Amino acid sequence: WFFVCLMVETLFFMQVVAENMLGDKKVTVVFVLGGPGSGKGTQCSNIVEHFGFTHLSAGDLLRAEIKSGSENGTMIENMIKEGKIVPSEVTIKLLQQAMIKNENDKFLIDGFPRNEENRAAFENVTKISPAFVLFFNCSEEEMERRLLGRNEGRVDDNIETIRKRFKVFVESSLPVIEYYDAKDKVKKIDAAKPIPEVFEDVKAIFAPYAKVIV
Ligand code: UDP
Ligand code: MG
Repeated sequence: WFFVCLMVETLFFMQVVAENMLGDKKVTVVFVLGGPGSGKGTQCSNIVEHFGFTHLSAGDLLRAEIKSGSENGTMIENMIKEGKIVPSEVTIKLLQQAMIKNENDKFLIDGFPRNEENRAAFENVTKISPAFVLFFNCSEEEMERRLLGRNEGRVDDNIETIRKRFKVFVESSLPVIEYYDAKDKVKKIDAAKPIPEVFEDVKAIFAPYAKVIV
């Protein structure tokens, strides 16, 4: 009996340990979600600076993949131009590689998962679940104004694609936020305010993750 109990406990322990492991490091992942133009990228830079996270923008990784001349490049570029969601295998592989390559153990995953399939595939493949989800809530009017005002030369920052991205966000990405909300994992931020004011709210959420100075 003693050995049976020991076995059961060992198995249970191993499962607990396997969660959120990436090779031999245990990682903390925060999903940063919100509509296009809600300020995810901007606030992620602030979080990196103050709290020592590494920022992984799924969109940036996909754009880098196009530039690298990968075999998936043309497919990814066409999806982005149309505001569609790239197959999750592609995005998950890029995110996984980026986390393995980096020595840090705290990651902000920005702009992913974008639909339920993305979310389930990421959890199944990586066995990583987010510590929480940071959700930037903003009106479409304000997001549209910001997207049309920024001049980053992105192929998808035109009014036609922006409208498509809003539709995809409401139909596919909001359900992901609702999924995590049901698990009490969503920290919702009013993202319509000026950047410094939004960051004040963000800071309060990340305070427990502050770098410990010794
Ligand atoms: N994209 C995707 N999967 C992702 C992240 C991005 O397919 O996990 C594609 C999608 O076509 C999206 C585009 O990349 O519209 C731009 O995403 P990004 O997050 O850079 O833009 P944002 O929504 O933050 O403005
Ligand atoms: Mg972005």
